Amino acid sequence: MSKVRLGPDGVHIFDRDSGSNVLLDEIVPPRDRWTFSPRQVSIALTNACDLECTHCYAAKTPATLSFESLKQWMLELDSAGCFGVGFGGGEPMLYPKIRELCQFGRANTNLAITMTSHGHRLSASLVDSLKSSINFLRISMDGVHRNYENIRGRPFPTLLEKLRLIKGEIPFGINYVVNEITVNDLTKAAEIAEEFQAREFLLLPEEAHGRGSVVAEKTLNTLSNWVDSYRGSLQLSISSLHSELIRHEPPLPNEVEEIAFAHIDANGILKRCSFDFSGQLIDDEGVISAFKKLVNRRGRHENLE
Ligand code: SF4
Repeated sequence: MSKVRLGPDGVHIFDRDSGSNVLLDEIVPPRDRWTFSPRQVSIALTNACDLECTHCYAAKTPATLSFESLKQWMLELDSAGCFGVGFGGGEPMLYPKIRELCQFGRANTNLAITMTSHGHRLSASLVDSLKSSINFLRISMDGVHRNYENIRGRPFPTLLEKLRLIKGEIPFGINYVVNEITVNDLTKAAEIAEEFQAREFLLLPEEAHGRGSVVAEKTLNTLSNWVDSYRGSLQLSISSLHSELIRHEPPLPNEVEEIAFAHIDANGILKRCSFDFSGQLIDDEGVISAFKKLVNRRGRHENLE
């Protein structure tokens, strides 16, 4: 079933199954009818992870969200007009009830369910379960062969076996952290992504968070030139922080709206994004109440209480 959001840009219609995403900007609804919920929420299900990537910025203190809270928040976000949730971590496939959680979202909401994973825990059985309950999977692949292995500490051929499991079964994209080493593997990585029928290639210039280091300007120039010259079939996109650094016509899709996105960390704290240090604890009043408090506190939106 299609979902509709009303806002200052017009009427936004989204369908998780067809992926259709239409903005009717000739109609601007009155302010008192605007939808007030994040359009997309990323959720760190757990801080647990079995890898130790060299650029990781995920929190390392043990924390895992409760299954009951997650179900409640998904129902609430769905009724408030949210379009989708993206499960991450840590490693979301280490979440004990990952299959049940995705199945709950599929059966009880109209939210698009996506997940970002390193992919190494995928099995035929897990793919079989997830293919009927998630809309899109994002697999991290920074560099190829030796460069990938130096960053992720796992064999690259094993990653290819995992991509073979999801090829044609679950729609997926590649998340690619760009730094001075991985930038040189872009062409080969894109060829592999095309071979396994990935749909999207998300470019994530490395950030100075956690173990990561900010990417050098020279690397960004190389990335920009690569984007300009890319002629393959993948949909390229880029993190919002760098959208202006990449010259590309038409502009690559990015995420720019002030209240369109939110992040829930593994302690149940709602934040503007995963890089934020502080946020609003989601208490018994629920996730939309926390969202209103967060937005009002930061003065990014007029008081909506
Ligand atoms: S980057 Fe992701 S896969 Fe790598 S250690 Fe951090 S949470 Fe785990």
